[in-house]
Amino acid sequence: MASNSFDVIVVGTGAGGSTAMKILCEAGLEVCALNSGPRIDIKEDYRGHRQVYDLRFRGFGNPLRFQGKAHQEPYSVEESEYSEGRDLFEHDIAYSNAPGTDWYWKRCKATGGKANFWGRSSARFGDIDFKAADLDGFGENWPVDYAEAAPWFSKAERYMGVASTIQNRPSNPDGEYLPPLPFRCIDFIIQKGAERIGVPYLPDRCAQLTVWHNQHPSCHYCGNCSRGCDVGAFFSPTWFTIPDAEATQHLTLVTNALVREVLVDENGMARGVAYVDRTSRREVEVYAKVLVLAASCVETAHIMLNSKSRHWPAGIANSSGELGKNLCDHLYGSPGYGYLPQLLGQPARPDDIADSTIAWMPRWQNLKNPREEKFIRGYSVYMGGGCGEFPGYYGRIEGFGSKFKRDIKRYYPTTIDALIQAPSLPSATNYVDIDAEKKDMFGIPQLRFHFQWGENELLMWEHSKQVMIDLFKSMGGELWGADDEPNRPGTSLHETGVCRFGNDPKKYVTNKWAQTHDVGNLYICDASIFPSCTDKTTTMPIVAFTMRSCDHMLENFKRGVHQRL
Ligand SMILES: Cc1cc2nc3c(=O)[nH]c(=O)nc-3n(C[C@H](O)[C@H](O)[C@H](O)COP(=O)(O)OP(=O)(O)OC[C@H]3O[C@@H](n4cnc5c(N)ncnc54)[C@H](O)[C@@H]3O)c2cc1C
Ligand code: SF4
Repeated sequence: MASNSFDVIVVGTGAGGSTAMKILCEAGLEVCALNSGPRIDIKEDYRGHRQVYDLRFRGFGNPLRFQGKAHQEPYSVEESEYSEGRDLFEHDIAYSNAPGTDWYWKRCKATGGKANFWGRSSARFGDIDFKAADLDGFGENWPVDYAEAAPWFSKAERYMGVASTIQNRPSNPDGEYLPPLPFRCIDFIIQKGAERIGVPYLPDRCAQLTVWHNQHPSCHYCGNCSRGCDVGAFFSPTWFTIPDAEATQHLTLVTNALVREVLVDENGMARGVAYVDRTSRREVEVYAKVLVLAASCVETAHIMLNSKSRHWPAGIANSSGELGKNLCDHLYGSPGYGYLPQLLGQPARPDDIADSTIAWMPRWQNLKNPREEKFIRGYSVYMGGGCGEFPGYYGRIEGFGSKFKRDIKRYYPTTIDALIQAPSLPSATNYVDIDAEKKDMFGIPQLRFHFQWGENELLMWEHSKQVMIDLFKSMGGELWGADDEPNRPGTSLHETGVCRFGNDPKKYVTNKWAQTHDVGNLYICDASIFPSCTDKTTTMPIVAFTMRSCDHMLENFKRGVHQRL
């Protein structure tokens, strides 16, 4: 590094951090971005077009790769032999679960973070989400409403490229879309069945390029998205924001830099960060006028809780005591899976165009009356299936040997698998703190999770199982079953809360611009600011709210609130 002082330091280069880097660099600021892991090498790390028989461990990865690692579980979906080869995922930094908690913390430490491999579902939040407290009396509203957020959603969509249709449902607001992804064969059948039971079944909003967009090529529908796209036909920091930031020549990107704490000056304001250079294991300090934390929700809270000083004995910017509180997540699990007998014997056609659920059932519950159901708020459902390369339903069929193989072939491509996305409610008992007893391999105090599913989301889970019974009946499907329990908390990768934004400094960590109430030159650009979870996913809103926060920050630079170097 030629210099160790910058206008802005950004911690994390995922969807949030890399968007901040791009905007701030394009405005001419000198930005240092710190990323805890290595730089993605597209040629080395995205291995989508290989066949499993070309891979040494048939796609499952080296079974010995976790030897000696602090965190030994493989990460479902995103981590496989297609992506794990160069140490892209975090298995070295340990974390704790409080007794009774089973949080599954999946982390991609490579540049670009999880959006290298994400599912691309990109719906807008609406006033049903922002003003949920007004509607059902639970919790608090967001400090912004749809009218204020909408132009930022448009800006994010226009940049990322999101494919969908206009649907005229205020609970699931329409945006600015590329042409939609075509339905799979199963979608037409499910849609008819869903109509009969009064449930919407519509194209999802998917950040996948159905046409050339902002000099990025359109998708060639290989279905390899969760292994990383080798041509950049969906939004990812690796193809979009990081190259844009680098093109300005105002970016200094430091990899393998694990940030430990925020450093403060004599007034308690941020003056830089201390990080561990994971290659040399040396501790390094870098300084800046303004700091952006975008290390991904709970990791942002981890860094802040570990940033203790005379000014901030309970962690930086934590005079409210709210840092780490109100952790929310999406409850995931399959409320129903089975097959469509009418498709037995039909030839397969290459309709696995998105390696994702291209259609969904956006929230339909509690729309007219917020307390119509036994639960408040609402959930959405995605339907998996179609002619994927790998028959993922093999685990749903019993048997072994040649009959088992015959059955797998027989049911291809007739199976469908529902996935519920149910928001947990903010709760005083769901939070993260620092484990006083344990430190990671670099001596950094570990993050500890305290989390249980609440009654509200478990009622949604039960409700969705009944809907699946009705749906399978109405579409002439055969229901094989449902998951006995929801997936482990953390599985969805849509955690929110822990640094919530709001107007009252006594109740919220940041103001409505994601600038911490206590420390004016410390901003947060990830989903930790979202005060509550919705039935929609988080990434497009992370990009949108980051754009909005950076706009505010740039205004503060202009007005002299923040000084340049
Ligand atoms: C398989 C899969 C499917 C998904 N599907 C969807 C979907 O359909 N829709 C959706 O909206 N979202 C989806 N997600 C989630 C989505 O990817 C995340 O919400 C989003 O990428 C989060 O962005 P982020 O920048 O907050 O965090 P991350 O992507 O996790 O990036 C955090 C960055 O911070 C760095 N970092 C972390 N700790 C430190 C530290 N201490 N010091 C320095 N750097 C640090 C990391 O290296 C990383 O680069 C999916 C994710 C996966 C993996
Ligand atoms: S299906 Fe499209 S977006 Fe996905 S990896 Fe293939 S080309 Fe890329």
